[in-house]
Amino acid sequence: MQLGPWSQGRRAAMLYYRREVRQEGPGTPQQRHIDDFETAIASSLGGGGLAVFQTLRRLALKNSWRVYLVGGPVRDVLLDVAIKDLDFGVEGDAPVLAHQLAESLGGRVVTHARFMTATLIMPDLRVDLVTARREVYPRPGDLPRVFPGSVAEDLSRRDFSINALALPLWEIAPQVLDPEGGLADLDAGVVRVLHERSFRDDPTRLLRAARYEQRLGFELEGQTRRWLADAVAKGPRSKGLLGRVSGDRIRHELERIFEEKQPLPALRRAARLGVLAAIHPAWQEDMLTAGALSDAFRESFRDGATDHDSLMYLAGLVYHFSPAQGDTLIRRLNMPRAWSEVVRDTIHLRGIESRLAKEALPPSHTYSLLQSLSPAAVRAVAKITSSQRVSEAMNLFLDRLSGITPRLRGSDLISLGVAVGPMVSQILERLRDCRLDGQVDTGEDERRWVLEYLQAGKGSEDNPEKGD
Ligand code: ATP
Repeated sequence: MQLGPWSQGRRAAMLYYRREVRQEGPGTPQQRHIDDFETAIASSLGGGGLAVFQTLRRLALKNSWRVYLVGGPVRDVLLDVAIKDLDFGVEGDAPVLAHQLAESLGGRVVTHARFMTATLIMPDLRVDLVTARREVYPRPGDLPRVFPGSVAEDLSRRDFSINALALPLWEIAPQVLDPEGGLADLDAGVVRVLHERSFRDDPTRLLRAARYEQRLGFELEGQTRRWLADAVAKGPRSKGLLGRVSGDRIRHELERIFEEKQPLPALRRAARLGVLAAIHPAWQEDMLTAGALSDAFRESFRDGATDHDSLMYLAGLVYHFSPAQGDTLIRRLNMPRAWSEVVRDTIHLRGIESRLAKEALPPSHTYSLLQSLSPAAVRAVAKITSSQRVSEAMNLFLDRLSGITPRLRGSDLISLGVAVGPMVSQILERLRDCRLDGQVDTGEDERRWVLEYLQAGKGSEDNPEKGD
């Protein structure tokens, strides 16, 4: 693991401190001193986020509010990587605090009473404030019931030790709370769950484990890996391990993977661990090598490729599906339209590859085969397909054909004598096809083409298209 200069400078001291405080015994949050964490946080945080942090820090110090920076941002500042989101925990009432923060900073507060959380929404920033809580899982896989609790309880419900860290902002010289040994795990570069039932309580953690492990370049800690394998192997037989988890939650975690800078390592890892197959049986590792996890797909995103579109990974994952399998997945993950379109269109595209691979296919045919399909699906299949001709036809469509429209407009056609009605758009489509196939170029060409078309008697409503 590569630690940045800030972390490196403190590693030895942190470990020393940790050994000291661990003597206090389990259960009580252990604290760790961090020198000048404000500078460290400032260097990991840009603009608006820094202002929020500093305001909350000032208010917490002044009013002794028991506010903590919790989870991901603490982990990230210790690893000296950019902080993505600011998450704050409050021993108290998060929505009340969010409103007070909004008084200082402006912005709109959205509260979620059931989860005792609030989000402060500012023009270019969202900040989550969460009431520290304890959770009870009525049944494995169900959403937990939540109750206000201490920060220690809040940290003990977390997914992994490296996320079970908090920094109390009301203390003058704050020390990281590390009740679960997350600092040592950060140091060792491991992802570790907090207890044996963790994956059964919440199987979405299976996907999260692969995501963090691959993002951070860590490894699953040995026992965690065994528990994970156990959970995958012993999921309830009738419904599968993730059978009790709602489609929305699974989809959300998949989306988090798609949005990673490098989604493929996490998807591959989840496939290797059998986690993807627990979501849909067609997601066996060997079947996936034809899709999102193929080398071709990965290569095309290397080194700052610009067309990173998270749904392309979904396309890659379903490329080898049958239409029926696609429909099952759409239902299982309760997919919104943008997702279900990508699934259906990707599967459809694979089915029409032989038509797209035809020699000398006129551009207008390529256009009509692709124009109604999701661009994310077309982009993805252009990368996945093993046929160079298909790939070229799709790229031609994406780069050039899809943007081509006639120079004449509907009003021009009407003034040339086309009857008002559906004929106008039909002729515009024909003109577009002519442009696509290079039969017309200038506006004058188009005008001539329309007049000839009308003279042939095809442009009036009582003689639509006959014999054409
Ligand atoms: P990052 O991906 O960088 O961690 P994040 O901090 O925004 O981003 P979230 O998924 O929003 O990550 O989760 C915020 C925190 O909530 C995590 O640090 C984790 O401790 C906790 N958390 C999220 N999901 C779960 C879960 N399923 N089980 C337990 N804890 C969770």
